[in-house]
Amino acid sequence: MNNYKNISSFNKYDKEFFNINKNEEFLLKLKKSFIKSIKGLFIYANKEKDLVIFYGNNRDVLGYDDEFIIMTFDEVKKYIHKDYIYTLVQDLRQNTEEFETKLVNNFEEEHWVSIKGFSKLDSEGKLLKFEGYIHNITNEKEAALILDYVSSYDEVTGLNNKKHFKNIIEKILKRLSILESRGALILVNIDNFRFINDTYGHNCGDIFLKKFSDDLKKLFNFNEVLCRFAGDEFLLFIPYIDNFKDIKDIIKKIKGILKYPYNVNGKKIFTSASIGITFFPDDGESFEVLLKNADVAMYRAKSNGKNQWQMFNSNISREINRIYSIQRGLRTALDNNEMFVVFQPKITLRDDEVNGFEALLRWKSCEIGVVSPGEFIPVAESTRLIIPIGKFVLREVFKKVKYLISQGYDNFKIAVNLSEIQLREGDFVEYLTLLIDEFDVSPRYIEIEITESMIMKSVDRNIEYLLELKKLGASIALDDFGTGYSSFNHLTKLPIDVLKLDRSFIVDMMNNHKSRYVIENMIQLSHKLGITVVAEGVEDKEQVEYLKSIECDAIQGYYYSKPEDFQNAINMLNKYNSK
Ligand code: C2E
Ligand code: CA
Ligand code: CA
Repeated sequence: MNNYKNISSFNKYDKEFFNINKNEEFLLKLKKSFIKSIKGLFIYANKEKDLVIFYGNNRDVLGYDDEFIIMTFDEVKKYIHKDYIYTLVQDLRQNTEEFETKLVNNFEEEHWVSIKGFSKLDSEGKLLKFEGYIHNITNEKEAALILDYVSSYDEVTGLNNKKHFKNIIEKILKRLSILESRGALILVNIDNFRFINDTYGHNCGDIFLKKFSDDLKKLFNFNEVLCRFAGDEFLLFIPYIDNFKDIKDIIKKIKGILKYPYNVNGKKIFTSASIGITFFPDDGESFEVLLKNADVAMYRAKSNGKNQWQMFNSNISREINRIYSIQRGLRTALDNNEMFVVFQPKITLRDDEVNGFEALLRWKSCEIGVVSPGEFIPVAESTRLIIPIGKFVLREVFKKVKYLISQGYDNFKIAVNLSEIQLREGDFVEYLTLLIDEFDVSPRYIEIEITESMIMKSVDRNIEYLLELKKLGASIALDDFGTGYSSFNHLTKLPIDVLKLDRSFIVDMMNNHKSRYVIENMIQLSHKLGITVVAEGVEDKEQVEYLKSIECDAIQGYYYSKPEDFQNAINMLNKYNSK
């Protein structure tokens, strides 16, 4: 590399280099000092004389200590990165004012440079002369490359990020539509990822995501495009797919990698994924629409019980639109006075007296009519609107309690359903305290209904929370017992006063001796633990008689009354509960 001529006295070239007259030494000096002041390397090339002169600090880009270097064209070639020779020649011939290339110095170090100047070409467009200067732009270029990387790829997994993925897919969609070919967009959402993060920490969550992405990368070749779309969501686009079996194989592969636990920091993480699939152009012609539909399908797979896959179809779309209109309607429901509370009595079997009510929320929307709580509560939960709505219910209940006390009633409780979101994210205890002060009402008239599933997610913390509620003086009922997790263990662990046997148990009871056996024993066990038992959804006399015979404490159900507005409910209190 070092067969260069280092000219110590460069007068001979000075004249030609700077192209000045003999007697203009002063101007020459001026020009040299000007060149020095430019933070770059001056270059002069003359093809006819096979001469290239560099003047200025070239230590980084060429690797010499001398400021003045002279070479032949062939020698210069060795300093140009082989991948860039072709474009460099093109740029010189086209007289591009400023262009970039990559140089390799004497120490084999690569540098990005920008070259500014002008060429003189012969009539055939070949280079005769070039004069200009070179700037080392490696730092800027690397920064730009890093920036480009950061703005295109996901930091944790190295997969395309959403923006970059969208650009790629939009190009592929154009090609597919010209070729009249199909493609599939697959949305993979890791089930219970939040649980992984909450239990093992975000660091473990990230390691898991990285390992999962690496496995995905291994499964697919470059034809299929992968993306980390959001926290625990991945997108996969498969072009040129035309049959259902191929999709099934792909889903099988994805599920295959989650079949075995991931070992993260010595912990075994088991998980599954909910997958939504949508086809181009059948389900949508743009990336946005395909994405929305894949999301709709995934949402369905998730609500069907997770660990499933679902193809998009228009039925699902209709259901999701219903959810969207519920979401929209809920936002203004309270302000528009569309919500109210009804009360269903609970009757003590010992004396057939109403000993309280369960407050149940109702919504009559101006736009979409009556929506059942079974439909709108989950939406209110997923949008966190349950927090203000829950507060509304609690305030209504306090109003009624205050009224009943003012009318001389004393032996009653009104139960309020508490949602997991209120427990986890809201300020329920604070709000309850506030209402106790505001209404000057003892919380012993209030019962809070919780379910096992909401406690399960963080048992110890929630027990503390329930103890706080109890300390204030409210009582606690475990709702829907017999569905979901139902565990005897919880009866001993949770600070509950009341156990509400779910309607499904009661429905089953008269025809199933095993159910009766379980219920009988559950009642006895609860009594030993000091817990009162209420049977929910009691609809006929036979059930009432049987529940009486096995010492069930109270019942709630259509047999006595459906949920009623407050005035009708008080009448029942009159009937069953003398002042
Ligand atoms: P839940 O807490 O289990 O409430 C009991 C549900 O069973 C009520 O339905 C009630 O009307 C119904 N029910 C009562 N007796 C019978 C019967 O004999 N037969 C039949 N078939 N059903 C009976 P509703 O009012 O539609 O409420 C459904 C669910 O919505 C409630 O179930 C509760 O989980 C939720 N919910 C209602 N109001 C609120 C609320 O204010 N806040 C929260 N977080 N959830 C609420
Ligand atoms: Ca309830
Ligand atoms: Ca219930």
